[in-house]
Amino acid sequence: MPGTAPQQTDTEGVDGGVGLTALLVAAARAIETHRHDSLAQDVYAEHFVHAAPACAHWPVRIEQVPDGDDNPLWGRFARYFGLRTRVLDDFLVQAAGTKARQVVLLGAGLDTRAFRLDLPSDVVVFEIDRAGVLAFKQQVLTGLSAAPKVERVPVPVDLRADWVIALTNAGFDPAAPSVWLAEGLLFYLPGPAETYLIDAVDRLSTAGSALAFEAKLEKDLLAYRDSAIYTATREQIGIDLLHLFDTGPRPDSAGDLTAKGWSTSMHTPFDFSRRHRRGPLPEPNDALEGNRWVFAHKPRS
Ligand code: SAM
Repeated sequence: MPGTAPQQTDTEGVDGGVGLTALLVAAARAIETHRHDSLAQDVYAEHFVHAAPACAHWPVRIEQVPDGDDNPLWGRFARYFGLRTRVLDDFLVQAAGTKARQVVLLGAGLDTRAFRLDLPSDVVVFEIDRAGVLAFKQQVLTGLSAAPKVERVPVPVDLRADWVIALTNAGFDPAAPSVWLAEGLLFYLPGPAETYLIDAVDRLSTAGSALAFEAKLEKDLLAYRDSAIYTATREQIGIDLLHLFDTGPRPDSAGDLTAKGWSTSMHTPFDFSRRHRRGPLPEPNDALEGNRWVFAHKPRS
């Protein structure tokens, strides 16, 4: 798989293609931030939205959406992203609080955890995404004079290529425990790239390391083409998620990690909606039905 990096066929930055999905999540986080019952706070999120011509007219508060929470995109789907942010914030803070001092954000997009979470001061956050996305992010954060709370190392590389060399060249130490997040990423990658990623995380993770990732279990993603979420995302902001997702066969990454000795647990987002008493619940023809959040720990020997 490394050495066979495919040519980019989509726009490299956040203006289109899969890069634009980083802005979709940022807009959702902005909306979540301004909610009275917010699950996660990201004061930087709305600045990314305002800085990108591609989404200058997107809402950053639910009050700006005419049908408010009834809107499938800016209501239910945005709340989903808010919940996901909170759940992975909690996972990361917990893992860094115990042992892991290296954080790797795979497909980091406009994630600002290095700027907003209270992590131990000796934590280093590595942010992997494509160069155009990280350049846009840096430009906005520099414009805000934003300072990360911990050391932050952007690693511009395509995750369909051999990204391990780029990460270790950036200072990642495979001998030290680490925590990895692949939030809203794996379904955009071809199956072999996901297999490579899971193998690499295992290889680079010493005992005490942790990984959380999001997967979609549907056998046929197109079955939900007419779901409210996919339809609204397509019609309101022109992002056809089903066109961006990889439709080839997917590996069983949770099973593969278990086979490698990791302890894994798999949850639906709805489990956390119930726990937090807010967030999406199941509905008919639900594009979120197959979404799973997987939490894996490499046991201390
Ligand atoms: N994890 C971030 C979050 O939750 O806010 C961003 C999620 S966004 C839906 C998906 C991200 O994955 C985008 O930033 C995109 O650029 C990145 N991505 C997709 N394919 C990638 C690839 N082949 N190499 C590096 N990054 C990739």
